[in-house]
Amino acid sequence: MRIKEIGQLKDQANISNLYGWVDNVRDHGGLTFVDLRDFDASIQLVFDKDSSINVNLKNEFYIEVSGILKKREEGLINKKVSLGDFEVEVNKIIIISQSKALPFQIEDGIETDESIRLKYRYLDLRRNEMKQNILARSKTFKSIRNIMNSLEIDEIDTPTLIKSTPEGAKDFLVPSRKSPGSFYALPQSPQMYKQLFMMSGFPNYYQIAKCYRDEDSRKDRQPEFTQLDLEFSNANPDIVKENIESIVKHIFDEAFDIKINTPFKSISYAESMSLYGTDKPDLRIKETITDETHVFADTEIKFIKEAIQNSGNVLSLHTNKTLSRKDIDRLDQLIKDAGSNGLGWFKILDEELSGPLVKFLNQNEQNHILSKGNGILLFQSGEFKEICKFMDILRRDVFSIENTELPNFLWVEDFPFFEIEDGVLQPSHHPFTAPKDTDIFKSNPDESIALHYDLVLNGVELGSGSQRISSPEIQRLVLEKWGLSAEEIENRFGWFVEALSYGTPQHAGFAIGIDRLVAEILKQPSIRDVIPFPKTQSGMDPLTDAPTTIKEDDLTDYNLRYISDEK
Ligand code: ASP
Repeated sequence: MRIKEIGQLKDQANISNLYGWVDNVRDHGGLTFVDLRDFDASIQLVFDKDSSINVNLKNEFYIEVSGILKKREEGLINKKVSLGDFEVEVNKIIIISQSKALPFQIEDGIETDESIRLKYRYLDLRRNEMKQNILARSKTFKSIRNIMNSLEIDEIDTPTLIKSTPEGAKDFLVPSRKSPGSFYALPQSPQMYKQLFMMSGFPNYYQIAKCYRDEDSRKDRQPEFTQLDLEFSNANPDIVKENIESIVKHIFDEAFDIKINTPFKSISYAESMSLYGTDKPDLRIKETITDETHVFADTEIKFIKEAIQNSGNVLSLHTNKTLSRKDIDRLDQLIKDAGSNGLGWFKILDEELSGPLVKFLNQNEQNHILSKGNGILLFQSGEFKEICKFMDILRRDVFSIENTELPNFLWVEDFPFFEIEDGVLQPSHHPFTAPKDTDIFKSNPDESIALHYDLVLNGVELGSGSQRISSPEIQRLVLEKWGLSAEEIENRFGWFVEALSYGTPQHAGFAIGIDRLVAEILKQPSIRDVIPFPKTQSGMDPLTDAPTTIKEDDLTDYNLRYISDEK
């Protein structure tokens, strides 16, 4: 029986087939007390040391127990646990399986290194806090399926051995033994397949999909992650956003008992960047960024002058907090670590300015800064997008979050169609996204806006979606403007352009990162804490040691060979 079932029994009830792990053994006088723990509860066992029960129990032994249930005397009740008013007077214990000495204690709040916890993840998951995280994930899946059923959205699966068509990140590749020298890729998302469902006539689709992206180890990303993936036919961004709001509202309510208000607020990408320096702002922080470029038009401060001459901007944040020199140095280091040349600042106190750059300010600049009032003005100058990154870091660090209990949702839309990422032109979503205005896209793709929308929760990107291209001509054009040659288009996407050519409904969709959603609701520091068996930051699995090398002989079957020694 499960330990929680004891709660329904009466004093003096006979107990048998009670299973669990030994959580703690204490000897007091002639009596031995044992805490027995299973998945959902724990109970105190007691037996006489000199009785027929002659077992040497250690933590995490798995045992079977029989005995009699006893109501504990008032003064002995343990109010901290749910069955604390009972104990089992044991008459038989069978040790089903022993445990080796543990690498860490099975308790909450341990400070064990994460790589050790991951190496023994099966033990880590015995700890209550991890168990609760995984259960919350499971409840999330359940509530997704409930709402999908009630909205009559069909669950359909898509293949995970697919053609390599990298969309942004690099693909994980799987060599084919039957076609030596050829590779499948694991999907970065079910994107093209879900669009094919729309072309096939399925009006809507969802899937709880595993996605794989071989990215450089950026903060809190996993090579393998789980998305709630959706697609609707005859849809546009408004229809998708409305559906997503109902779905998210339902998940929060059913799985987490949190009530949220819909519709969510919406802002444009341009507004988001200029007010918050990011396309995923945390609106629980009220303070915004100010563009001061015009104030410094005639500046004598050399590096600002240069920035403005190079079409850059001056962006500032004012706080009335008192920041010490130590605080300023810490902020300086924080943004330097992200690539900034350093923090600019002016202190304002009772109509007086101080700071290393004050002596270079002209009267107009001084007056402007003084008008901000007591506090400190932090600033950055340079290329707009580059300095936005630093302003976002400063804003999140300097200001405090209001209403921490209320989840803050935000739609960000009207993204530029293309952006330059690490010096390379990329669609800001993916190349299957429809431009807002096809004529503008044709004449001036760099100025074109995409029908792409992101959902942001508490400053974290929760999901993205778009209206898709439904014409083969536009699809080809987008791939061309992206910079693909006719040959590349044919080789990589020819089959998809062909599929678009037989009467394609207008369609649109979305994907929500489930790991991120659960981590954010549970306020976990990392998505690794809500994934049962995650990889480390460097993509390793300390439990199984994956990825591992393969024997040369086995590689031969795939027509593969190690070349590292020959380089
Ligand atoms: N496939 C997209 C992604 O994974 C989501 C979408 O456009 O539906 O980000």
